Amino acid sequence: MTDTMAPAIAVRGLTKAYKQLQVLRGVDLEVAPGTIFALLGANGAGKTTVVRILATLLHADGGTATVQGFDVGTSAAEVREVISLTGQFAAVDEILTGRENLALVARLRHLAGVDAIAADLLERFSLTDAADRRVATYSGGMRRRLDIAMSLIGSPGVIVLDEPTTGLDPEARQEVWAAVEGLAAGGTTVLLTTQYLEEAERLADRIAILHEGRILVEGTLEELQRLLPPAEVEYVERRPSLEEVFLALVGTRRAPETGAAASREDSE
Ligand code: ADP
Repeated sequence: MTDTMAPAIAVRGLTKAYKQLQVLRGVDLEVAPGTIFALLGANGAGKTTVVRILATLLHADGGTATVQGFDVGTSAAEVREVISLTGQFAAVDEILTGRENLALVARLRHLAGVDAIAADLLERFSLTDAADRRVATYSGGMRRRLDIAMSLIGSPGVIVLDEPTTGLDPEARQEVWAAVEGLAAGGTTVLLTTQYLEEAERLADRIAILHEGRILVEGTLEELQRLLPPAEVEYVERRPSLEEVFLALVGTRRAPETGAAASREDSE
């Protein structure tokens, strides 16, 4: 493998416990640059724990993790320069307009050309028309798009989206999905955690299922579907859905939610 093909994210044997609760028992992951990778798992599987370790917000007990070649343990400052984490708890300021939020972050990062940066991101995330309205008037999908736009300031090579569409209505989810596809098309590496199977199906180049502290399976949607025999439905061979694959592999435990209206049962 040449340097240019080096993984954007590489995780080896990652372990983490919260007191007696062993959440990660040796997680291995590799995400290729410019791809969308979905980390799938039931509530409490440890998805957020993995992404918080990658974003240097949490220390692992064991194993290694690198982001664009920088070790999260020994080069945390460099990792923070190249990775951006955004999630359901949007960092946007409701009192400010969309444009003001973007300009504020650009100024905090001491970037030149603040106005141009804001205008460009507003355009990319279809927020130009709403740019000068207070965020308090935005829909859920618009807020989430603004949050993703804000996390792109400074051009991080890797963006982590922790459950980017949890709590959004179907229309807003479609808007966020289009924004995420645009990110990868622009060369950004996207690591996405989700409990929505159709989100992984729709967006991800590769999908990993985190279960009982380890990656149970990893591959493209087609590779995961090949793990189960196709069902014969009225003489037409039908590929198993990701939900069927997930349930067959994860067994008796409840599958991640598949409906937009579903809410998380546990609060963090
Ligand atoms: P997921 O994102 O897949 O829902 P999390 O990584 O948030 O999973 O949590 C994994 C497990 O660790 C859950 O059982 C959760 O309750 C527990 N957990 C998460 N954070 C903490 C913490 N700070 N202290 C104790 N337990 C935690």
